[in-house]
Amino acid sequence: MKEVCLCCDTIVVLNEDKNINIHATCEALIERCTSGKMKVIRGDCPLEMMEKLLNSDPIYSIVQFIHCNICNRTIFWGLWSRGVPIYKVVEEKEIEQWPWKDDKFR
Ligand SMILES: [Zn+2]
Repeated sequence: MKEVCLCCDTIVVLNEDKNINIHATCEALIERCTSGKMKVIRGDCPLEMMEKLLNSDPIYSIVQFIHCNICNRTIFWGLWSRGVPIYKVVEEKEIEQWPWKDDKFR
């Protein structure tokens, strides 16, 4: 049985063509984190900077692992300079397994 979380399962905003709307989805994540419903555990950069960085190559990927304080799951949100964005529920251990880049954006 799949339980739906009204916080993190309602983040993704789709365009009319069914592709993920990066801007609206980022805004929704920022709103959830600002209001304390979600918290960034680890990311390549602050949430607010994801879109800006994506538009400045040669960055290939920008990812965030975000904890949902409502359902206690871990969410992966990743943007690629080539390819579609990914928003999915992951295991917490995947944070450590992710091939993190150096900390040049911090
Ligand atoms: Zn949730």
